[in-house]
Amino acid sequence: MLNWIPTRTNLVAHGLKIGSLCPICSRKDETTSHILWRCSSLKSIRSLSGFSSFGSFMDSISFFEHVLTVKNEVTTKEFELLCILWWRVWFRRNHMFHSSVMIPDQGIFDWAVSFMNEFRNAKQLVCLPPPKQVVSRVWKAPQAGCYKINTNVALNNHYRVFGVGVMIWDCNGLVMASLCLNLRVCYQP
Ligand SMILES: [Zn+2]
Repeated sequence: MLNWIPTRTNLVAHGLKIGSLCPICSRKDETTSHILWRCSSLKSIRSLSGFSSFGSFMDSISFFEHVLTVKNEVTTKEFELLCILWWRVWFRRNHMFHSSVMIPDQGIFDWAVSFMNEFRNAKQLVCLPPPKQVVSRVWKAPQAGCYKINTNVALNNHYRVFGVGVMIWDCNGLVMASLCLNLRVCYQP
C-alpha cells in the first residue's frame, strides 16, 4: 500500500534489470520514502517547509509506515502540505529524468503552497451557502381570463375573535368581490 509509484526498487522488485540507486543522489536505493523525502537532494525543500527528515529510521520502514509516523507528528494542515510536496517532488524527479532539467527547490515549495491555498479557497467557495432567493413582494394582477384571490386572517386572543378578509381581483387589478368577517371563537389558548 502507498508503494505503487515506479521507483527503481519497485521496478527491480517487478523484475526489471536496472540499478536500484537513486537517480538524483546516486547514494542510496531509490525507495518511495527516499525519493519523496529522505534523499539528500531534498534538504532545502525540507528546510523551506519547516519539516524535519523525520529521522534515519525512516530508511528502514515502508512508505506506508512513513506516512503514518509523519501524520502523528504534524497538524492536519501541515500534513496536507506534505502530501502536496510529495506529489510535486515525484513530478520533479520524473521531469528531471526525462528532460534533465531540475526544477529549483524554491519553485517546488512555492508551487505546493500555492496549490494548497487555491484548493482551500475553492473548497470554501463550494461550502458557501447558496445565495438567498429574493422573493418579490410586489402584488401582481392575474393573467387575462383568470382571477386572483387574496386572503388574510387575524386573531385577537383578548376578545377571542378572529377576522377573515377575502378579495377577488381580475386581470386588470380591479376588485370583483370582497369579504370581511369577524367571528367569535372558542378554543383552548
Ligand atoms: Zn537520493
